[in-house]
Amino acid sequence: MQLRWPDLASGRADHAAGAAVEIAGWMATAGRANHFLLSPEPSCCGGCVPSDPLFAVEVFANAPIVPQPQALRLTGTWLVGGDDASGWRYQLHDARALDPPGWRAIGRRGVLAAGPLFCIAGAAHADEATARQAIAATTAVDIHSHAGAITGVKRVKTSEAFREVAQPMRAGGMAAVCFAIVSDSPCHQVYADHRIHPFRSPDPGELYAYGQLSFARVHFLVRSQGLAVITDGAALRAARAGTASAIIAAEGGDFLEGRPDRVDEAYDKWQLRHLQLTHYRVNELGDIQTEASEHGGLTDVGAEVIRRCNARGLVVDVAHGTYDLVKRAASVTTKPLVLSHTSLSQAPGPRSRTISPDHARVIAGTGGVIGVWPPSSVYRDLDAMARGIARLADLVGVDHVGIGSDMMGLTVPSVFDSYADLPALAAALLNAGFNQQDAGKILGGNYVRVFAASLG
Ligand SMILES: [Zn+2]
Ligand SMILES: [Zn+2]
Repeated sequence: MQLRWPDLASGRADHAAGAAVEIAGWMATAGRANHFLLSPEPSCCGGCVPSDPLFAVEVFANAPIVPQPQALRLTGTWLVGGDDASGWRYQLHDARALDPPGWRAIGRRGVLAAGPLFCIAGAAHADEATARQAIAATTAVDIHSHAGAITGVKRVKTSEAFREVAQPMRAGGMAAVCFAIVSDSPCHQVYADHRIHPFRSPDPGELYAYGQLSFARVHFLVRSQGLAVITDGAALRAARAGTASAIIAAEGGDFLEGRPDRVDEAYDKWQLRHLQLTHYRVNELGDIQTEASEHGGLTDVGAEVIRRCNARGLVVDVAHGTYDLVKRAASVTTKPLVLSHTSLSQAPGPRSRTISPDHARVIAGTGGVIGVWPPSSVYRDLDAMARGIARLADLVGVDHVGIGSDMMGLTVPSVFDSYADLPALAAALLNAGFNQQDAGKILGGNYVRVFAASLG
């Protein structure tokens, strides 16, 4: 019997109890496993594992099963659980994978020929020199990163050594990186369900103080790596990889503790130019994709923070925010919005960090940019990532797509984990059918436009 995901919600799946079934989905695990959750969409990171029992199947296999970049077809015995609220209602026992016919035998050109965009791409293969030309003709920007090992409570509090970042930026041609502090780290952790959740409320003043330490650490990285800090649009437009540059960013406005005036303080004191409103904690500014809604979207304080950013000249980033938050943010902002790290999904599951086509269109409607990220649980390799970027560009237009690596912030391996690999990513974009000019927009040109508009 073949089961589809809507069968779980409709109750049809309950009638299959005890039967041999087939179901297709993505493994919510980074590596091979014989006990895992199967979900109806690719998981992006630890925060993307489904929590709703109607959007997950607990799988038990006798031999380890290897995750695949596409949906995996599994067969096994279907069991339906009882009313235990903490357990997974649907289970597949004695599971084994049904390989898609001949998929291992399909080489890269065959895969390229299989999709709607791939007919163009199959005709050419960009070499490194061509890829480097595309990079040199633009200002390459990573719009969301924690590279250098700038985040993490222990690293921040013990001033742990940095990882090299300027050298790989120069080697790959990455002109500028948005280095994002994370100010809610003391209050969240990875839970047994592989999701990141807050585990306590912060003490008054705690996240402000932690934010100050975190900003100080980014500036220490800047000095120790010899990075230039970019504080205006003209400087970003002029930036090239020869002088590796930093844009100071924050993931989560938790350090504001609900005080919009602290936007100005961070602008002046820490050269903050890119502020993401929310992260893994429902904070004073609004709701997040990975927890239940508490505010119905953006709060009034969040709206005021956006107005402060618009007035003072900071990029507003709505990554991690709910669709409702994004819709109100779009109605409040007078500048383009950025959603710095995500991927497109036709039907995001509950608590997913992916975004729907409508969610993406709201960002594009402000003239903004959506950064596509590179978790290996979403994209098998750079070519797959480039095809994911192409799907988003097809939906919202090539002027509204960028790259947000979330480097050193992902809970799963990344297919883009060093700036030295930028030419390979550029080549993948060219091979996916983008011309040099459009590849340049994606690699940074679009963010340069939004940054200049936000700061001007
Ligand atoms: Zn994030
Ligand atoms: Zn991040």
